[in-house]
Amino acid sequence: MEERGISQAVIGRLPRYYRYLGDLKNEGVERISSQELSRIMNVTASQIRQDFNNFGGFGQQGYGYNTSYLYEEIGKILGLDQQHDMILIGAGNLGQALVNYMNLKNRGFSFKGAFDISPSLYGKKIANVPIYPMDQMTGFIVENHIDIAVLTVPKAAAIEITQILTETPIKAIWNFAHVDLKVPDRIQVESVHLQDSLMKLSYNIRRHENES
Ligand code: ATP
Repeated sequence: MEERGISQAVIGRLPRYYRYLGDLKNEGVERISSQELSRIMNVTASQIRQDFNNFGGFGQQGYGYNTSYLYEEIGKILGLDQQHDMILIGAGNLGQALVNYMNLKNRGFSFKGAFDISPSLYGKKIANVPIYPMDQMTGFIVENHIDIAVLTVPKAAAIEITQILTETPIKAIWNFAHVDLKVPDRIQVESVHLQDSLMKLSYNIRRHENES
């Protein structure tokens, strides 16, 4: 399937489609029209059709889409039919919470090891994931075919560690540090800036209060 030129905006909407379709599938809904999906998801039916047309339209025939088929196909586009092995870098409060959360909500993403600069953490485990010293990180990535590095370290450390990661075969960085990372094209970065999200919320509170 030709996927070049598909906008990040479309890709950004796929996880939400996937989530709604998963719920519909679990409820036993076998078919769904773009109008119905539009009503549930609060987006226009034409937006849904346009989004799906990027991937060949998913064979809408007669009455709507086959829910299970659409769910599986979007899952494949998102690469969720593959196992992704990950490491955590920075086993502080946020890092530990992520490992605990992801190991519960496993969707083919699995933490194989955690790394930290603090010797007091070595030999300890987070939800069965062992914590190792930083100097073992590169070897671990290579030996265990790690795809994704999850960064939960302070800003300065994130920049330094990213530099090291660019010299490993890592495919992607899931960045929780409050900094924008520069990487070569072959490495994918998805940043989750929790503070930015909270600031947006703060702005909306202020705007709402000013309007009322
Ligand atoms: P939090 O728990 O909120 O993530 P924290 O108070 O535990 O934070 P931070 O300063 O945010 O500490 O650091 C997060 C983790 O990253 C800590 O466990 C810390 O030891 C680790 N860390 C800091 N610098 C580096 C580094 N250069 N390399 C690897 N790990 C680091």
